Amino acid sequence: MPINQPTIADNGIVRPTHVEIDLDRLTDNYQAIQKVVAPATVMPILKANAYGHGLVAVARHFATLGVPYLGVAFLEEGILLREFGITTPILVLGGILGNQVPLFLDYDLTLTASSVEKLTQTNDAARTMGRTAKVHLKIDTGMERIGVHYYSAAELLETALACDYCQVEAIFSHFANSDAADLTSARTQLARFNEVLDFYRRRGLPAPRRHMANSGAILQMPESHLDMVRAGILLYGVYPSDEVQRTIPVRPALSWKSQVVYFKVVQPGHPVSYGSTWQSDHMVRVVTVPVGYGDGYFRSLSNHSEVIIRGKRYPVIGRVCMDQMMVNIEWESAYNGDEVILLGEAGNATGEKVTITCGELARWAGTIPYEILTNINTRVPRIYLGGDE
Ligand SMILES: *Cc1c(COP(=O)(O)O)cnc(C)c1O
Repeated sequence: MPINQPTIADNGIVRPTHVEIDLDRLTDNYQAIQKVVAPATVMPILKANAYGHGLVAVARHFATLGVPYLGVAFLEEGILLREFGITTPILVLGGILGNQVPLFLDYDLTLTASSVEKLTQTNDAARTMGRTAKVHLKIDTGMERIGVHYYSAAELLETALACDYCQVEAIFSHFANSDAADLTSARTQLARFNEVLDFYRRRGLPAPRRHMANSGAILQMPESHLDMVRAGILLYGVYPSDEVQRTIPVRPALSWKSQVVYFKVVQPGHPVSYGSTWQSDHMVRVVTVPVGYGDGYFRSLSNHSEVIIRGKRYPVIGRVCMDQMMVNIEWESAYNGDEVILLGEAGNATGEKVTITCGELARWAGTIPYEILTNINTRVPRIYLGGDE
């Protein structure tokens, strides 16, 4: 969502295909998590367009809730939020390059110091600019992504004590397996992090704020909540894996909807869509829906997924195209303009709820719920419900 380049989704023409985000559900999920982790605080994670929910709108919403911190992956995500007037502290979680440090200072963004060299570069740049850099130290306890290894962390902590132009607000680590059924490796990671933190105790120094828990650990490892938790997918109402213990009730904030734009009867033996991968041995009614892999509805869902029309689930047949896909309604009725739910819930005639979850779509597509959400691209307009506005 670059600032000077409006997306086609912003042009005010309401396309039948859109995503609805229920801001009140985000509030409920935030409060449910906050209640469980207290006295720890919650840092909402907004990377990748707020897991597809829309970076700026979601950040504004959490800012109104008074969250203590926001987390993004990249510098440019943080800059965008500042350009849109968000004043909440923002941590950029990802790795950085030395030449980015001045931008962190200009935009009052907190950076992740993931090595002694980067911390020193940061301190030097801040000194040159006559400013103080806000820093969170990153310890690698077993992810092998960024951060100083737990077994050689002392030098980073030592260096940080001497960085006069850095305000070291926090120290953090990240779990590789906290959403698994077997928490052995996650517990090892937490123990390693605690050993690193002993550095402060041994010297009688106050430790900076500590944070480690992502959604899996928020749900399954209360001992990892420490001073703050970093809530991503759980905040959006989606559980990180099938096997994770669902200890906190959350509900999905996002629904993905479209409408029927075409209806036809297909004769037996007449294949549907590219590659002719599907055909029927009897006459069927088929509707066309204006959404496709060009919107982020995975092509791997071809012949593998279902949608909800008039409170009933029907299969997607044939290949998902770039902008359209076909649904078999057998001999039932659907009309042009009928709502089609790709992800979300609907009531049916008898009042029961019919739902297609992110987890289901992920299973059908052979991926994880995170990728289903972040893959919904900017061509799809976002509509916000609830909240203060
Ligand atoms: C993405 C991310 C999170 C949030 O993860 P979820 O599993 O979505 O809760 C937390 N911390 C870091 C460093 C991350 O990259």
